Amino acid sequence: MIDIQASIARYLRDSGHSFIHLKAVLFDMDGVLFDSMPYHADAWVASMAKYDLPMTREVAFLNEGRTGMNTIAMIYKEKYGVEPSKELVDRIYEDKCQEFSKHPEPERMPGAYELIQQLQADGITPVLVTGSGQYSLFERIDRVYTGMFAHDKMVTAYDVHHGKPHPEPYLMGLQKAGVQANEAIVIENAPIGVQAGIAAGIFTVAVNTGPLKPEVLLNEGANLLYPSMQALCDGWQELKKALGIEH
Ligand code: MG
Repeated sequence: MIDIQASIARYLRDSGHSFIHLKAVLFDMDGVLFDSMPYHADAWVASMAKYDLPMTREVAFLNEGRTGMNTIAMIYKEKYGVEPSKELVDRIYEDKCQEFSKHPEPERMPGAYELIQQLQADGITPVLVTGSGQYSLFERIDRVYTGMFAHDKMVTAYDVHHGKPHPEPYLMGLQKAGVQANEAIVIENAPIGVQAGIAAGIFTVAVNTGPLKPEVLLNEGANLLYPSMQALCDGWQELKKALGIEH
């Protein structure tokens, strides 16, 4: 049983805000809008193995949300104790992207489209905040989520100096949406993404769409946890009411 009221009360106490007035919802992409994480995990394991760098599917899921560059640098440094060259990082990342592209196009995450339709009906702005830098990202978003995400409000790997877990991507999402921290919520599936949302001072809803234990997301400070995007979609009217939006 999800105690939404208690979660909101805890957020307000911790953040010092006296209310949430929802104007925008900041969406992570992989594992939230697209069921793409299993393919990313496969691609990480395959490409890192070619460079004799240790990577498991679990590590891929635990580090989801970091930029590809940061993930490679972190694993390399753990093994060799020094930073990898930029050339090597670029080469491995290129390989990882190629491995990813061998998979079929990821499916839309069940419930995501219908959730965004509900937001739009209430005039709430959906905003994309991703650490991804895939070149096909805009085209795919426009095709699969037609008319839902304005390009000038999107935050991608190219917009920020610091990737998640740094708060910068979500702070920039607020800025692009023209809203304050207590006028938005974050939807995230990754531990590092939850950290970023919380660090940005935003009410952060975790959706556990992968193989991680729910505690992993709660331990990062997620304000609420749903077992899937479909569950969040189904529970949206209740959450919306609790957030004080009456339409
Ligand atoms: Mg994600």
